[in-house]
Amino acid sequence: MRQYRNFIDGQFVEGIGTFADVDPVTGATIAEVHEAGAAQVDAAVSAARAALNGPWGRMSVRDRCQLLRRVADLIDERAGDLLAAEVADTGKPEPRALALDITRAAANFRTFADTTAAEGVESFLLEYGEASQALNYALRKPLGVVAAIVPWNLPLLLLTWKLAPALACGNTVVAKPSEETPGSATVLAEILQEAGVPDGVYNVVHGFGKDSAGELLVAHAGIDGVTFTGSSPTGAGIMKAVASRVRPVSFELGGKNAAIVFADADLDATVEGLSQSIFANTGQVCLCTERVYIERSVFNEVAGRLAERARTLKLGAPDDPETTTGPLISLAHREKVLRYLKLAEQAGATVLVGGGIPDLEERLAGGCWIEPTLWTGLTNADQVVREEVFGPVAALIPFDTEEEAVELANDTEYGLAAVVWTRDLKRAHRVAGRMDVGIAWVNTWFLRELRSPFGGTGLSGLGREGGRHSLDFYTETTNVCVAL
Ligand code: NAD
Repeated sequence: MRQYRNFIDGQFVEGIGTFADVDPVTGATIAEVHEAGAAQVDAAVSAARAALNGPWGRMSVRDRCQLLRRVADLIDERAGDLLAAEVADTGKPEPRALALDITRAAANFRTFADTTAAEGVESFLLEYGEASQALNYALRKPLGVVAAIVPWNLPLLLLTWKLAPALACGNTVVAKPSEETPGSATVLAEILQEAGVPDGVYNVVHGFGKDSAGELLVAHAGIDGVTFTGSSPTGAGIMKAVASRVRPVSFELGGKNAAIVFADADLDATVEGLSQSIFANTGQVCLCTERVYIERSVFNEVAGRLAERARTLKLGAPDDPETTTGPLISLAHREKVLRYLKLAEQAGATVLVGGGIPDLEERLAGGCWIEPTLWTGLTNADQVVREEVFGPVAALIPFDTEEEAVELANDTEYGLAAVVWTRDLKRAHRVAGRMDVGIAWVNTWFLRELRSPFGGTGLSGLGREGGRHSLDFYTETTNVCVAL
């Protein structure tokens, strides 16, 4: 059986015990994961501190970024190994994992190598008194030892989204991948080592959140900041854990994202776009749409066509070229999604499509399968329309005016993403700008320029990452003021 060990100071080490890594496609155990206890977390933080004070801390930005480009090249070279680990852990269709997760991992390293290498210093001339001047300039320094805690839905993509800028800025990192998806973070350790990243710069501790590696890591006094992607309640807990030491946090949390469909939209493109934004990665993307507000005059048409499109999705194994949709991550997560299906039923929803566990071939019987599901007949007052389900589900709700659509879309505690579907250019800008979210798309979804700010408002997060916004989080500045 494959073993995933902790990676500390350049060595793969065992922990306090093991837990099973389960294939969500079949329910079979595919690897044993070595859980880090207090001693391993402490060793990882100490190694990261020592590396920060060692040659890594003195390396020029140019050399560091050169090393990260080498990491990107090695990710491309070892795409097959990363793909195997990622697909085994998540069950997502192989072509999608290759095109999105693995490709983006390499792009994350290249982007942040380029962005960071191009970053200059900020300077101001201060004039005071009759003829006195002082030169101010801000030096950027690494934040220090960064704890990077990531979820299971896009494991490698989200880890490298944090790791690449953190390393480019000269930090060292202790990463805690999700207990559901330990694979790709571990393979990445081999890649960084092969690229020549010094020991202790990237460490991986495996385990759970509560009473395990996650809590031990964020409570550790040697951590200088936490970058976290995951659920909003976990984010709130981490905030409390670091509050007494006043450490900076960057949070990318949950969403309950809306799409607004105006009657003037290109309905072919809209139906296809909605199908992507609702069902991609089996609805397990923080940016996925779970609420669709549709102008009443086209409501029945859009709802009908979307349901028809949903029926064409093919649930299946990752290596089946016909597969469009994989399983949920775990049976525990499926229980949660099933609870919401029940809640929708109790609220009087009409199920347009889906609504339960699909009948699949024998070899997939132990997997975490769920049917793509669309509801009508719900309102914003219903629990299932207010809370993040994180599955392939959406509530379709009609509206009559632009004002009403904006109000309905913003009527949530979350604020991650929104999509506006319209051919009216002025309305597109007007409505997109009124969305209380970090990212508003018009006539598309998921397109990302990695230098632009990414993050959410309200329960969806704190801070922005991407391009120089990441550099702001992963660095501290010292302003030097020199009287001239
Ligand atoms: P989660 O919060 O349960 O776990 C995320 C990570 O935090 C895991 O590694 C987990 O072990 C760890 N963790 C859990 N409790 C902890 C604690 N008390 N202290 C320290 N670490 C702890 O989230 P999940 O179920 O893995 O992921 C799904 C959630 O992530 C959804 O809410 C989704 O919207 C969100 N997400 C957000 C973004 C974004 O960019 N905004 C991206 C992807 C996923």
